Amino acid sequence: MKKFTVITLLAVLVFSGYLIQNSKVNKIKIIYQDEFVIVDEQLELISLGYENHPLETQYRIHVDYVYKRDQVFDLYIDIEKELMYFIDGRGKAYTFKETSKREILSMDVFNTMYPRSKGPSVTFMVGDEAVAIEPRELNWNYRKLNEAYENVTLSGAHQTPGIRLPYEMDLDIYFDEQPQEILVTNEAGYAEILDMEALKVQKTEEEILYTIKGMWHGEEFFGEVAYEVYLSMDMPVVITHEDERIRPGDFVTLEIHNLEADETLTFHQDLVNKIEVHRLEDRAFAIVPISYWTQPGTYDFEVESDHLGLPFVFELEVEAREFGVQYLTIDEEVAEETRNDEAYEEFDRYMEPARQVSSETPYFSDVFLQPVEGRISTEFGVYRYVNGSLTSYRHSGIDIAISQGTPILAGNTGRVTLSRSLILTGNTIVMDHGLGIFSVYYHLDQLMVEEGDKVLRGEMIGTVGSTGFSTGPHLHWMITHYTTNLDPFLFLEKPVF
Ligand SMILES: [Zn+2]
Repeated sequence: MKKFTVITLLAVLVFSGYLIQNSKVNKIKIIYQDEFVIVDEQLELISLGYENHPLETQYRIHVDYVYKRDQVFDLYIDIEKELMYFIDGRGKAYTFKETSKREILSMDVFNTMYPRSKGPSVTFMVGDEAVAIEPRELNWNYRKLNEAYENVTLSGAHQTPGIRLPYEMDLDIYFDEQPQEILVTNEAGYAEILDMEALKVQKTEEEILYTIKGMWHGEEFFGEVAYEVYLSMDMPVVITHEDERIRPGDFVTLEIHNLEADETLTFHQDLVNKIEVHRLEDRAFAIVPISYWTQPGTYDFEVESDHLGLPFVFELEVEAREFGVQYLTIDEEVAEETRNDEAYEEFDRYMEPARQVSSETPYFSDVFLQPVEGRISTEFGVYRYVNGSLTSYRHSGIDIAISQGTPILAGNTGRVTLSRSLILTGNTIVMDHGLGIFSVYYHLDQLMVEEGDKVLRGEMIGTVGSTGFSTGPHLHWMITHYTTNLDPFLFLEKPVF
């Protein structure tokens, strides 16, 4: 509730042609949003003639005439033009004597009518985007029509806004009333008097609290206004990895730094078909599977971003790796039964969809475990001769020989995408672990999970058998990135992300 201001004026009654008949006023009340001020004593009204263009108004005036009944009118005010009048029922406008008028218009109830009452406003421009900011602190003085200064103070409790600037872009600061001085400081110890309106923001992704203080020393108004804002810069993407050596069959996890939520990368490289960027909380990374078919050498990467900044360039050095050769003799009858067109067609029909879609959120967080202990009968990636002739494929996983019925454990937490008997690989399980990582189990005796099942790391999923194209009880165990076969042993030590 604003306090009622009562001012007393000496009414000088002078007869003049401008005075309307019966214009003597006992008392007026000025009403503004349910509040009112009383201007007491006899006031002199001056006729302005007919006014046809009333201003917008939020004020009403209650006039208590001496010889007429009370009346309420709209009250029109324009502080800059020192205008204040009301219009009576016949369309005639009336105002008050100059000195009275200035005193009345200097009353608190009219403060909001002063153009400078709110203090200056600032707009930060980031490229074409405007960000308006409320002052954190304001100590502001403006002059009223009676020459007295009104003081306005404010200590904002609003949330401090944050602005992330595109790389190497300045923050443009626009005041609606240009201050005589702009002082910029930040919590990292930076301080500068800004002579231009462009602020060079520190090049860091980290949010730094800046205080921007404007100072005005005018006659009409003077004061200080401080704004606070967290500023940071969208730094260009940097890509790192921790692998000292990369061999065919390995995977490389690329750590992507400074990637913004709305930033898209394009990878130019010849090493793999496609690179998916994964985002987990504050992290971004990509898994690069190095097929066992990869030729050793240097692979160039150029990573382009749709944000500002030059492409990030790096290379991956793939070392040579010796893969063994295995000579396998298998019963001709088994070979014919399990390796034929029908078997391959069936294999593709079920295996392809089982590894096509992977959860974007990983089901796992730990390294993998070996699903069964036993003798390693065939290593990963070896070239194979079957019954004397070289096959066109390589050994896609690791064979672990152990007696029939030995429990097989899930190598990690995931979801079963295939669990069925196939001619070629016998009883087969495929699990999706997310991020494109799958584990595959062949030749099982018993299948103990169903498609769609969520299975925990170390949970029993089946037993060792010799179903499908197999020479004896063993588990053929694979870990793949979609359909790229990777060395399962690496997954026992090296975290994927
Ligand atoms: Zn095998």
